[in-house]
Amino acid sequence: MKIPTNGFLKLLLVVALFGVASCGEIKQNNVTNNAGEEAGVQAKNPQEKLQVTVSILPQKYFVEKIGGELVSVNVMVEPGAVAETYEPKPQQLAQLASSRIYFAIGVPFEETWLKKITSANPDIPVINTGENIEKIPLVGHHHEDEKSHNHAHKHEDEPIPDPHIWLSPRLVKIQAEKIYQSLAKIDPKNEPYYRSNHEDFKREIEEVDKKIKEKFEGIKRRKYIVYHPAWGYFAREYNLEQIPLELEGQEVSSAQLTKLINLAKQEGIKHVFAPPQFNSKTVEVFAREIGGEVVIIDDLAENWAENLLITAEKLAQSMR
Ligand SMILES: [Zn+2]
Repeated sequence: MKIPTNGFLKLLLVVALFGVASCGEIKQNNVTNNAGEEAGVQAKNPQEKLQVTVSILPQKYFVEKIGGELVSVNVMVEPGAVAETYEPKPQQLAQLASSRIYFAIGVPFEETWLKKITSANPDIPVINTGENIEKIPLVGHHHEDEKSHNHAHKHEDEPIPDPHIWLSPRLVKIQAEKIYQSLAKIDPKNEPYYRSNHEDFKREIEEVDKKIKEKFEGIKRRKYIVYHPAWGYFAREYNLEQIPLELEGQEVSSAQLTKLINLAKQEGIKHVFAPPQFNSKTVEVFAREIGGEVVIIDDLAENWAENLLITAEKLAQSMR
């Protein structure tokens, strides 16, 4: 591996410089000097942080949990941006160039950008933390009753894989394992530190999972209406049913909207959940028609654990 060797060479260089400097010193002080030199190396050459780039904010949380103070994380999709349509800024690409590793997760913008990123930075390994996770289809509204419409859905035959794998604690555990292995591989001397952080993080994930399960205990009506269908893995995990008003930027037809309004009325659904950056008349109309309200839930919040618990609480409350 190229990069650890560079790091090792730098260390050798520092050691060599100290060696040269201490050559002129009096022999009898050798033992104390050696101890002092070691401390000196540490103080003059504080451990450089491992530069890591990730696609979305929740990944920053995961990498920081495992990398702790040894990593510095650069996020491509900035707060408030939409992962589906994001385009990195030139300045971010420049920052990326100093990264030692890129953790991809399989969000749509990577499809286009990762190729450009990797061809411009062939030395940066790209690790897709979702590569061993089987994707479920992104669940949307049905198209049977609108075959005659002229919008050519490229996915009509092929289901779109759902990219939102960071919203299921069980799947985050798989991703955390990959992050730990990758950091340990690129920075083997700190493997014990990463391993211990990883153990702590696994416990945190289990705790979050347990608390979410408790929130949904005893709830009978387990359907919820969302604008953006980000919560499919979450729904599968906790035996819920997500019904979206949008898929790949396309909203339900007015006929479908009417059906969903009727369904909501029958089921006593009083909330429609939308991400902070939503901008949709359909959501407002839906909320008004069901005599309910729009509740904001964020699928890209940085504080992953807190956000999942907050979201679970909002969903559970609306189902009670
Ligand atoms: Zn999304």
